[in-house]
Amino acid sequence: MQTETIASAVEDRRDRLTALARDLWERPETALEETYAARRLVGVLEERGFALEVGAGGLDTAFVARYGGGEPIVATMGEYDALPGLSQRASATREPVEPEAPGHGCGHNLFGVGSLGAALAVADAIDGGVDGTVVYVGTPAEEAVGGKPFLVRSGVFEPIDAVVSWHPGWYNAPSTGSCLAVDAFEVTAHGKSSHAAAAPEAGRSALDAIQLLNTAVEYVREHVPDPVRLHYVIADGGDVANVVPAEATGNYLVRAPNRGLVEEVSDWLHDAAEGAALMAAVDVELTRTSAMYGVRPNDRLGGVIGETMAELGPFDVDDPLAAELRASLGDVSGQLAALEPDDRERAREASYFTDPIEPPDAGTVGSYSTDSGDVSQVVPLGRMRTATWPVGTPAHSWQAVAASGSTGTEGMLYASKAIGGTLLKLLTEPAVLADVVAEFERRGGADGYEPAMPGDADPYELLGVDRPGPVVAD
Ligand SMILES: [Zn+2]
Repeated sequence: MQTETIASAVEDRRDRLTALARDLWERPETALEETYAARRLVGVLEERGFALEVGAGGLDTAFVARYGGGEPIVATMGEYDALPGLSQRASATREPVEPEAPGHGCGHNLFGVGSLGAALAVADAIDGGVDGTVVYVGTPAEEAVGGKPFLVRSGVFEPIDAVVSWHPGWYNAPSTGSCLAVDAFEVTAHGKSSHAAAAPEAGRSALDAIQLLNTAVEYVREHVPDPVRLHYVIADGGDVANVVPAEATGNYLVRAPNRGLVEEVSDWLHDAAEGAALMAAVDVELTRTSAMYGVRPNDRLGGVIGETMAELGPFDVDDPLAAELRASLGDVSGQLAALEPDDRERAREASYFTDPIEPPDAGTVGSYSTDSGDVSQVVPLGRMRTATWPVGTPAHSWQAVAASGSTGTEGMLYASKAIGGTLLKLLTEPAVLADVVAEFERRGGADGYEPAMPGDADPYELLGVDRPGPVVAD
């Protein structure tokens, strides 16, 4: 059976993949600065004979690795960026390795390496006589800016027939729901500083404009369709209260189920910013710092992932830390609510819940956004979650960091097998791939895709990060 072949190819590399995931976990790097992770992943792919294109889409830490020849061409994606401030030991109490340092709170160390395990196993199958090409696309900066829209724009996905990707989580299931498209804006106001008490008439407060804009956002919220989400923070509101702030900055997110509605609400935000500038008698500058599509689901591909997971069955996590981490989460009823009552009861009792289940998000539009959305607009995309974390663990929590550096590797290897098994089916069963592609076309195909980010957007400039320079394999 194909899935068994893939599973044993993953098991053959168990120690190496586990060690690599731990190594990336020890060296967390934030968006666009993932040079160590990219180097390690590229090194393994190169050694296995993949043809590498490093620096894809104008991103130094992105890469495309291809193995095999001819069609069909199937792909997986890897993320490997960490989150600022989430440093945490692999322990069951909150304990940073280094205060304020980054940490793998979204499990992207597992993400990058799990997808790697799948690509290597499919390469073995190609050596064994399977026709086609397997591609690993290394996609940086998921947590900030979003690297994938830049890769989509550069045409990386054009020759690819289907992509199967995953995300760490606390259950094993395909993801067949959609999510929200998003625009991110930075609004900077420029006023005039003066002594706030002695010469207020000489000043014009940049902070006033940001506060007026935030007030407008509160009113706008009431008059947008229900799934729209608007949120903001004041990133810079001045330094001291006795100086009228000459500069102030707010960051805004506009989310909605489709690009059209995002853009409509974003235009409103834009008008509100201009109105705020007039009221405060200052200038404002509005920059779009990120723009993504929602995910277009593919039920047929979700079904193939589900079949592969059913063939794999559940797995065990044999580590006392699993129960301790689970206990540290306390009541997780809120998270469990996503599951069917039956699954919920079984999950409630477990540290790790590894029975493959039906997609809990089927038919829903999740209140989150991902840069995989753009990929799903140009190529059929299958997604899944696997149980890398104890039951109910929220992403971006310290428990997620702790599990991603310890008990999470079993779920990662499971992802390698589930992705690899699914890709192999797509390579060897033309009728299945044809169904997947037909559904993608039925849902709109690739022709309507317009990159949402302006063509001249520079992700490094937007994020205020220096270009790290080309990544060279060890
Ligand atoms: Zn993530």
